Amino acid sequence: MFIRTKNNSCYSNNSFDPFDETINYLQFLKQSGCRGFECSGKSLEIIKSWGQSLSKPDTLESILTDLGDCQRCRLSETRKKIVFGKGDANARVVFVGECPGFEEDENGEPFVGTAGILLTKIIQAMNLTRETVYICNIVKCRPPNNRNPMIDEINTCIPYVKRQIAAINPDIICLLGSCAAQSILEVKDPISQIRGNFFSIDGIIALPTYHPADLLRNPDKKRDVWEDMKKLIKKLETI
Ligand code: URA
Repeated sequence: MFIRTKNNSCYSNNSFDPFDETINYLQFLKQSGCRGFECSGKSLEIIKSWGQSLSKPDTLESILTDLGDCQRCRLSETRKKIVFGKGDANARVVFVGECPGFEEDENGEPFVGTAGILLTKIIQAMNLTRETVYICNIVKCRPPNNRNPMIDEINTCIPYVKRQIAAINPDIICLLGSCAAQSILEVKDPISQIRGNFFSIDGIIALPTYHPADLLRNPDKKRDVWEDMKKLIKKLETI
């Protein structure tokens, strides 16, 4: 592969890097007098970083670094802490909730309030522990007054959740409640209709069920969730 350099000469390069080539070509066009090519050091650094992030495998650490002190949506104005997610980076099961509430915002950890206590009991009843699974939310910052996350907030945050799931590569994701189920599965069906059914999303099995906060309001649904969790355990045994 021949690459055009800054001084417009060419050299052969056996380890072809398309991002280096793009940078060289942009500089060549600019030096040739073509207009409209932005070649500031900062822009070239950004192009270079695309190559670096593509060549390195995504990890929870690299996703957290990319997220940084996220200001990508209005929730950053009112949150105290970003609630990234917690648990085993190699978990076989990932639980995905909706968004942090008051306790989670204070602590920076998912599901540590009353709904979290119930989720912990469900996990323990499955013979698992919070340390051996991974727990995260669709939206990483608490909406003010615990309102539902808005669609633009979900759309801003969901690429990071999907990257977390892909980095962990679990056997099953358990989607807690309609926000998690509808956002990940990209469906509009009510949770009551899709719960307890297995889906496949980007090659990973997904099982929607009711959200623990829903169970606190409607204890009758606990029976359904337990049926769903028994299905999940059975499925895990076959993988
Ligand atoms: N509800 C959620 O969906 N997530 C939490 O972290 C806490 C409550």
